[in-house]
Amino acid sequence: MDIHEYQAKELFRDSGIPVPPGDVATTPDQAEKIAAGYGGSVVVKAQVHTGGRGKAGGVKLADSAAEAREHASRILGMSIKDLTVQKVLVTPAEDIESEAYVGVLIDRATQAPMFMVSPEGGVDIEEVAATNPEAIRKLRVDPRYGLLPHQAYGLATFLYEDPKLVKQATRIMGQLYRAFTDNACSLAEINPLIVTPGGEVKAIDAKVSIDESALFRLPEVAEFRDLDAEPASETKAREAGLSFVKLDGDVGCCVNGAGLAMATMDLVKYYGGQPANFLDIGGSSNPDKVVAALEIITADPNVKAILFNIFGGITRCDDVANGIVEAARRIDIKPPIVIRLTGTNEEEALQILEEAGFSAFTSMDEVVEKAVELAAQA
Ligand code: GDP
Ligand code: MN
Repeated sequence: MDIHEYQAKELFRDSGIPVPPGDVATTPDQAEKIAAGYGGSVVVKAQVHTGGRGKAGGVKLADSAAEAREHASRILGMSIKDLTVQKVLVTPAEDIESEAYVGVLIDRATQAPMFMVSPEGGVDIEEVAATNPEAIRKLRVDPRYGLLPHQAYGLATFLYEDPKLVKQATRIMGQLYRAFTDNACSLAEINPLIVTPGGEVKAIDAKVSIDESALFRLPEVAEFRDLDAEPASETKAREAGLSFVKLDGDVGCCVNGAGLAMATMDLVKYYGGQPANFLDIGGSSNPDKVVAALEIITADPNVKAILFNIFGGITRCDDVANGIVEAARRIDIKPPIVIRLTGTNEEEALQILEEAGFSAFTSMDEVVEKAVELAAQA
């Protein structure tokens, strides 16, 4: 679960990380009032679940409350990477001497939390990784011991030489690691971590993702969920009990089982296509779930072909077939649908589908190849 910068900053503040104050506005009026309250220059920042807001024009410096109001009226409602800005953070502007990057994430390869730090902050860390990988230092943390003091110090000395800065950064590394573990983060990132002309080290941006599986034991963090800020399709899928992740391709995928769904996406790519989504309809064979899945997939204008891949075990193929026929009756489905069903009650299912005029297959290779071909033709 992604959370907003202002929420991530609350978590950071709770862990002791120096973070400038800030307040959230949903209207230009509110933004002006907040700015007037701080006095002086402020930064108006779009609150959306994506990075690169600066480049997109979603982070603006204002020298007066009136200017903050103008920026807010321009930023509120703007769209950054398909997400509409509904809130802005208004925060006192900081003078910046240098910008560094500090992040912790769960690293799949080493199966542990991993620190990444770079004195070249402010910009995309992916860009630094591609063009100047020596400027990034990585450190795997053994979760049994946590971040040890000498490790925190080592990371800090990679960023700064001045002992006063190293001391502050060492403390911040430990605080960030605590924020990361206390809140079950999969990612906690400060970009940039700045040094002010007065020699203070501060976090002026914060990006945090929370492991959804831990939300049940973190009710306060779960409160951070902002349904309005998430893609509408993901919200609808969650309500329908489907595991869904929106992607950028054009082959809509409807699969039962997370493993099979991943394998299906891999095969779509193998045959030269791009999946439009990850979707696991789960083990149930409730036709309503199939209807909801098709509603979500067909609402995506990028989808050019729809691919069903069902391995019937507890899930009965004939139930899924009935769901597909029912969905086609209830909603107007434009893209072609190709279906592969195998397992429990497969023969009944194939009959139901053929009678309704669908192309049904039993081979996974065949159906994926067909779906990729149809999407390419469209
Ligand atoms: P992002 O683009 O979504 O990562 O948003 P950031 O919060 O990181 O802001 C982008 C850039 O705007 C930063 O790297 C800074 O260079 C600049 N910026 C943000 N806040 C301030 C501020 O308080 N003062 C100044 N001078 N620049 C800022
Ligand atoms: Mn940033």
